[in-house]
Amino acid sequence: MTVQSGSGSGPASGATAPLPIGATLRGWLDHLQATGRLTLGAPGMDLVHGVAGLANRLDGISASVFPRPGGHPVPVISGLLSQRAWMCEAMGVPQQELLRHFEQACLEPVPSEEVADPRCQEVVNRDVDLTRLLPIPTHNEHDRGAYITAGLLITRHPESGVQNVAIHRLQVSGPDRLGALLLPRHTLAFFQEQEAAGRDLDVAVVIGVDPLTLLASQAIVPIGHDELEISGALRGSALPVTRCLTNEIRVPAGAEIVLEGRLLADVREPEGPFGEFPQYYGERALRHVIEVTAVTHRRTPLFHTIVGGSREHLLLGGIPREASFLSHLRRSFPSVRDVHLSRGGTCRYHLAVQIDKRSEGEAKNVILGALAVHYDVKHVTVVDTDVDVHDPTEVEWAVATRFQADRDLVVVAGTQGSKLDPSTDGGVGAKMGLDATVPLSAPEMTFTRIRVPGQREMDVDGLSWAAPPDWLERVAR
Ligand code: MN
Repeated sequence: MTVQSGSGSGPASGATAPLPIGATLRGWLDHLQATGRLTLGAPGMDLVHGVAGLANRLDGISASVFPRPGGHPVPVISGLLSQRAWMCEAMGVPQQELLRHFEQACLEPVPSEEVADPRCQEVVNRDVDLTRLLPIPTHNEHDRGAYITAGLLITRHPESGVQNVAIHRLQVSGPDRLGALLLPRHTLAFFQEQEAAGRDLDVAVVIGVDPLTLLASQAIVPIGHDELEISGALRGSALPVTRCLTNEIRVPAGAEIVLEGRLLADVREPEGPFGEFPQYYGERALRHVIEVTAVTHRRTPLFHTIVGGSREHLLLGGIPREASFLSHLRRSFPSVRDVHLSRGGTCRYHLAVQIDKRSEGEAKNVILGALAVHYDVKHVTVVDTDVDVHDPTEVEWAVATRFQADRDLVVVAGTQGSKLDPSTDGGVGAKMGLDATVPLSAPEMTFTRIRVPGQREMDVDGLSWAAPPDWLERVAR
C-alpha cells in the first residue's frame, strides 16, 4: 500500500482511526487558517531580518507564511507550534494529558512504513546551490548569516541500521556546505564512531515536516531509538518513510524538502555566532561540516524556519523535556503530580514541580532528584497540589508565602550546567532548589487559600452581560 502523508487531504486511506490533526503539515496549516491563526506576510519580505522580525511579532499569536521571500519562489513558514495548547490540539489530547501522552509514545514507538513514489522526491536536484534552491533566512542581529533552523538531521548507524533524529543549527557556509553544531548527544556519538574509522557519516536534513514528527524529533530517549517511530506512536499508525536517493537514510515521505549529504570526517570549519534559546548568542568556533550532495523536494515546497529564541524554539525543546522530567521523577517519587519548564527560564533552566507531600523533607529530595535528571536545569521550585505549576504567577505566590530562605533553600556549588547560560563559568555553575511547600505540622487555617464557595462552578455568561450605555438608568430606579 502506498500512503502519502502530508497531502492535506485528511487521514490515509484504509486507516481505522482518524489521524490527529497534526499528522500532516498542510493539514495542520489548513487547520490554523480555518481557526484564524495563519497570517500571510507581504510578498517579497526580506530574508535578512524581515521574515524573522514579522514572525517574532506574531509569535504565539499566529503562524506565518511568507510568499516570495527575498524574491524566492519557495514560501517560508514559521511559528507552527508556538503555544502549548496548539501542541495538544496537534496531538488530539487535553492539556492535562499532554506529558503522559508524549511519554507513552516514547515508551511504545511504532515502526515506520516504507512507501514508494514519495512526495518529498517529486523534484530532484543533484547540482546543489543551497541559496538558489531554498529561501534560507537570517534571523537575529549578530547571526553569522543564513541558517537552516528547522532541519531534522537524520543519521543512521551503518551496521545496525538504527536511525537518530535531532535538530541542529546549520549555517550556510557555501553552495553545498553547512556548518553544524553537534552537542554531545546521539548525532555526535554516531559520527565519532565513523570518524574514528576514517569514514564520513551519511546524513539527511529534512525541512518541513508535520507537527507530530517535529515534536518527536525532540524526544529525550536513549541512543538507539529512532525518533521517527515516536512520531508513528503519536499519529497512531506507522509514519510513511522513504529511502534517500544517494544513501540508506529513511526520511518522512511527506516532507517538503530533503537535503542528502555527509558529515565530513576530520573537517572542522568556523560556525556562529547564532542567536540561541537563552536569548543570547552561541559563539563562533570550529565545528562540524556537512557536504550536501542532493536536494529533493515536493513540486511546490514550503520552507519551515524556527526563529532563534522564539516560543516555537523554546516550546519544542520544553514539552518533551517536561515529559522526560515527569516520568523520571515519578519513578523515584510517586508523590510528584506535575512539572513545568517556564518560558522565563527559557523552557530549560527553571523547573517547577508539584507534589502531593506526605513526609517532611520530601520536597528537598525531589529538588535533588530533579537536578540530576538533566544538567540544563538550574533552579527547581517545589509546590503543593493547590498550586498550578503551569502558571508562573501561582508558583511565585507559593514562593512569596510558603518559602523561607534560611530553612527552605538548597544550593549546590560547582555543578555542570548549560554552556549557553552566560552566567556560568564555561558551563560550570550553581544549582538552587526552593521548597515552597507547606510544613505538614502547620495549623490547617494558616495556609488555607482564600476562596469564594461556588465561584468556580458559576455560569458567568448566563448570569451577566455587557452593560448598555444607559446602564445607570437601568439600575438606579
Ligand atoms: Mn536520539
